Amino acid sequence: MTPHFTLAELTASATGARLKIDNTPRPEHLDKLTLTAELLERVRTLLGCPVIVTSGYRCMQLNIAVGGVTSSDHARGQAADILAPDFGTPYQIAKRLAPLVSNLGIGQLILEGIAGKQWVHISTRMADKPANRVITITDAGAELGIQAIA
Ligand SMILES: [Zn+2]
Repeated sequence: MTPHFTLAELTASATGARLKIDNTPRPEHLDKLTLTAELLERVRTLLGCPVIVTSGYRCMQLNIAVGGVTSSDHARGQAADILAPDFGTPYQIAKRLAPLVSNLGIGQLILEGIAGKQWVHISTRMADKPANRVITITDAGAELGIQAIA
């Protein structure tokens, strides 16, 4: 899709493979997924190291299978969950991106820490409420801004 991000990488899912779910994006989602890949390139350039996509596009069936909310930006091809171990922890990545969301074209930035795993969620779609543009979500709930996860 872009120099460093393939369609295969942005649609890969272990859960999808296990459940034999066809996660091929629809044409309208493919266009949005291309914009997501372009955003990932900008993030990669800023971080100065490879960005690993742990979850990109999830068709609605797959999104439900992984427990995603039905309004998920992943189901529209507008979001990616990322790690960048060569840069630092998800918290460090989110802290680096947070002041630059407008410059980078990030509509929503979420530091997520669920069930002992952490990752950074970025979306090209603007958060419904401006206050929710940069948030931290843990098992305990959502907090505004990027907060350290215990
Ligand atoms: Zn996500």
